[in-house]
Amino acid sequence: MQDKLIQKLYDNADLSAEELKVLIENRSDEDFKLLSGFARKRCEESYGDRVFTRGLIEFSSCCKNDCLYCGLRRSNKNAERYRLTEDEILSCCDSGYELGFRTFVLQGGEDAHFTDDIFCNIIKKIKEKYPDCAVTLSLGERSRDSFQRLFDAGADRYLLRHETADKEHYSKLHPTEMSFDDRMRCLKDLKEIGYQVGCGFMVGSPYQTVDCLVKDLRFIKEFQPHMVGIGPFIRHKDTPFHDKPDGTLELTLFLLSVIRLLLPKVLLPATTALGTISPNGREQGLMAGANVVMPNLSPVSVRKKYLLYDNKICTGEEAAECRGCLQRRVESVGRRLVCERGDYGS
Ligand code: SAH
Repeated sequence: MQDKLIQKLYDNADLSAEELKVLIENRSDEDFKLLSGFARKRCEESYGDRVFTRGLIEFSSCCKNDCLYCGLRRSNKNAERYRLTEDEILSCCDSGYELGFRTFVLQGGEDAHFTDDIFCNIIKKIKEKYPDCAVTLSLGERSRDSFQRLFDAGADRYLLRHETADKEHYSKLHPTEMSFDDRMRCLKDLKEIGYQVGCGFMVGSPYQTVDCLVKDLRFIKEFQPHMVGIGPFIRHKDTPFHDKPDGTLELTLFLLSVIRLLLPKVLLPATTALGTISPNGREQGLMAGANVVMPNLSPVSVRKKYLLYDNKICTGEEAAECRGCLQRRVESVGRRLVCERGDYGS
């Protein structure tokens, strides 16, 4: 039992790399009980019983990148490609607003069709119509100038998972034309520009070691992001990683608790990937210190085409059904789904 280390993490909101390594390598069910109890307590001190919700709009499945883990990679000839029009995106926001969403997340592949001008126009229209809502972007890597233009158009937040804080590991997950340094440059630019920024990684991605995870956690502590997205790696049948094992629920939950204690106020989603590897994965995520859920607002007609990994859940339901289902799930663990922007520290 590692109660001393866990107590130290709770008291100081920090542990050294060596301590984190010991904690992860020797973790037991008993350790997780203590750790997740502390994580829930920290989460409650920061945000009470509130769980924030983000409406996810998957605007394009076209991607110029070839990340080895992702079902949308350009080499996947079996992927069905689509793009939502500006009107379709705005109508997702309309139904989302009705359902109580006060944050819209635009996420997609790196699709050159969506220029800065097109995005700026969409962002401005959303903000004009819904000035009480936050707009979060998850568009992949762009130039600093582009990040600045989108920010000036009204975007509030940006999600860009760092994927791994180990340079060598990064090169095993990505094609040679993508670089760890570019990814890190983007995160730094986003923060300097003034976005609320989210980084994150997949748990159990191929070639990940405990040392990689320790680097991820140390990077997260240092970078001080406003949001951290983690979920299990899940294989996709049409990628080079089709035969790699999925990440586990157990390790993902453990790391969610560690991250909550490292960054007490962080916005931490219980992700769709977590709900995909286990039927009540998201509820367990909330019990481990998560405080955000991101239901799908994309039109049902395209949902089965935005497949990052196999067996993705929630690809058949209407937005209202997703929202209702999540509300029940959140309430089943004694929490409350709220209709707020849910900014960092709010
Ligand atoms: N193009 C955007 C959005 C990517 S999708 C970008 O590059 O940021 C969002 C996240 O899904 C990715 O950052 C990745 O961490 C995760 N993801 C991709 N493929 C996955 C898989 N097979 N299993 C689990 N998560 C995956």
